[in-house]
This record gives sequence, structure tokens and C-alpha cells, in this order.
Amino acid sequence: MSKHINIINEHESVVRSYVRNFPTVFTKAKKHLMWDEDGKEFIDFFSGAGALNYGHNDDHMKKQLVDYIMNDGITHSLDMASNAKAEFLEKFQDVILKPRELDYKVMFPGPTGTNSVESALKLARKVTGRTDIISFTGGFHGMTIGSLSVTGNSMKRKGAGIPLQNTVTMAYDNYVDHDTLVYLERFLEDNGSGVAIPAAMIVETVQGEGGINAARFEWLKNLEDLCRRWGILLIIDDVQAGIGRTGTFFSFEAAGIKPDIVCLSKSLSGYGLPLAVTLIKPELDIWKPGEHNGTFRGNNHAFVTATAALDYWKDESFEKEIHQKSEVIYSFLEDIVSKYPEIKGEVRGRGFMVGIASEVEGLAAKVTAKCFDLGLIMETAGPNDEVFKLFPPLNIPTEDLQKGLAIIEESIKQLVK
Ligand code: PMP
Repeated sequence: MSKHINIINEHESVVRSYVRNFPTVFTKAKKHLMWDEDGKEFIDFFSGAGALNYGHNDDHMKKQLVDYIMNDGITHSLDMASNAKAEFLEKFQDVILKPRELDYKVMFPGPTGTNSVESALKLARKVTGRTDIISFTGGFHGMTIGSLSVTGNSMKRKGAGIPLQNTVTMAYDNYVDHDTLVYLERFLEDNGSGVAIPAAMIVETVQGEGGINAARFEWLKNLEDLCRRWGILLIIDDVQAGIGRTGTFFSFEAAGIKPDIVCLSKSLSGYGLPLAVTLIKPELDIWKPGEHNGTFRGNNHAFVTATAALDYWKDESFEKEIHQKSEVIYSFLEDIVSKYPEIKGEVRGRGFMVGIASEVEGLAAKVTAKCFDLGLIMETAGPNDEVFKLFPPLNIPTEDLQKGLAIIEESIKQLVK
């Protein structure tokens, strides 16, 4: 073990996790490649858990950021006005919202995904005057108490140390033969059911941490319709599935739905800097000034890189590129599943949010560990870590994408022989 790993293992809380899965010290990274202190090269199929959809150290974003720093652009300004913020807001309207005919106010809830979810839950309760929130099995929404209360992972929920209240968890699409939304409506219609009309429903269109479960568009549309019928607010948590991961900027675009509130973070800054937004339909923006605040709302460096990142979305070429490369991934994975029946695998996902769920206990973790040895960074997902999750940067060149896929095959080959 290297000296640096030993220091981390000795001094960092036992709660640390990724250092256990990827036991090396990383020193450098460029685009879809990472290097450790021994100079070993890794292909990155992890993308900072979805925070690096454009890869590491993108040249265009870096240049904008370095210029900004060299000109002594303001770094920290809470939510005072800054040119960096105004430029981001203007471009976000022009490049993202207007072309998609979406009308949202942009709130900066704090630096990370969980801050966005917290603000969404608070606002939904404030707007409707109701208490309950409906969330879904396998959903993941963050680690602070509100977000955790709508997260469907028992191990993580236990970490709260208190009972988590005022939420109801319903079965997510794909988990049951019978549609959970039909049952919910029956409960709502029946005054004696004890199920009160909730303030909101919060859902991921594709569950990331929950194991790459992609809800059908039809189910999402039904969910939206149900919300409209009952005056329930629809919150889409696009923290992981958003910013191009499923093939479009917002994951819900393809389903043709328009959520009331959208949570975004992870790859929003484009450069791995913390930045989160909560998008709010204008008529719901009833906050009192300062009612939700935080010291790190809107980091100006993150605004600069986020503004540069939006250049990827100026026309449709990036979406086409994602689509073409995702075809490469799916055909490879389908091939793997049929070539190696021993892994009892099922291909899951949408766009660049892809995984193989294996029925063989412990196999996914073995595959990711073997991949690490062979120079590929990839993590597991799902309630029992039964899925190995492919999350390459969206702009990875096809050649290196194929190299990474070949490492997965080699790992499986070595494990099943
Ligand atoms: N929502 C989803 C869907 C997520 O995947 C995550 C993080 N994995 C979060 C919320 C929480 O984001 P953060 O870790 O930045 O607080």
C-alpha cells in the first residue's frame, strides 16, 4: 500500500467507501482517462458518479476558468449578483430551457444534489400545504434527512438514526406486474384508506443508485397525469439521469412530460465543481426572500464552467453522438449476456446510463474489482450491489469506449472460466 493510502485509511472516518473499491491514489485525469501515483492508466467508466459527464479537465471549460481566475473574477459571493451567475442564467435559458419550451425559475439551493432535493420537498409542502411525499422503491435522493426520507435504501435510511417520517414509498415501475399508480389512485379515491393526498411525488426516470432501473415513458406519462388529476406536484430528480446521461439534456424530455420541479446537480458545472439548481414552475416560486439559503449557493467558478459546458448543447450533434455510442454499448452488452450465460445477466438502462444486473450473488463486485486490476474504473449499483454500472463520459471516443468494453469482457471471461 502506498504512503498516501495509509494516511487516508488511518485518518479518514470509516464511512469512506470509494477508496475501498478503487484502492489507489489518483494524481491526474484527462477526459476519460485517469492515472494513479504509479503511473498506471485507467479508463473511466465511472465519471465521478455522474458528475463528470464531459470527462475530466475539459480544455474549453478549463480555459474559461483559468481566464476567470487570472482576472481575479469573484469566487465566493453567496447569492449576490455576479457576472458569472448572470451569464450562466442567460445561456441556460437560451440553450436549454427556451428550445425545449420549458419555463422555470432557477433556484440555487446549495452546492449539491441533496440540497436541491431538500428545497424541492420544502417548496412542495409549502405550496400545497400538505405533508406527505410519495417516493419509489429503489429511489435515491441524497443523504440529508429530507432527501433520505424519500430514499428507498434501508441501509442508508438506518444511517439517519431517527425514524424518517411523512413519506410513503410505492413500488417503482418495472418492479411489479401490477401498476402501482393504479393502486395509489384507488387509495386516494377511498377516504378511509388513510393515504392522504401527498404534496408531491418524487421520482427518477432512470434509477441510478437503485440499479439502473428505467421507467417506461408510458408509466411516467401516467404518473404525470395522476399528479395533474389530484393536484400533486411532480418532482423529477434529474441529479444523476440529467445533463445528457440518458441521451437528452433532461432525462424526462423523451417521455414528453413537464415536471413542476426539477432537481439538477452532478454534471451541471461540467467540471466536477459543486453546483446544484432547483427548477421551479414560475407560479410555484412562492418563497419569501431568504427563506431557504446557504453559504455556498452558486459557486462562481462552477458558473463559469457550467456556462462553457452548455456549448455542448448548442445544436443536436451531441445528442446524436451520445445515441450512436450508446448503440455500441448496448449491442456489446447484449452480446456479453448471451455469450456468458453463467453470469445470468440482464442488460438495463437508457442512453449512457447502462448496467448489467447479474443474478449470481457477488458477481458484479467481482467484475468491477477485476476491471480495476485491468485498468477500468466502474462501480456497482442496486440494493444488493447486483448491477455493474457503465457510466463512461458522454464524449469518450468510440475507440476507447471499445477498449473499456473489452476489459469488461476479459474480466468476465477470467471470472467464469
Ligand atoms: N439524487 C440522485 C438521483 C442521486 O443519484 C444523488 C447522488 N448519487 C443525489 C440525489 C444526491 O446528490 P449529492 O450526492 O450531490 O448530494
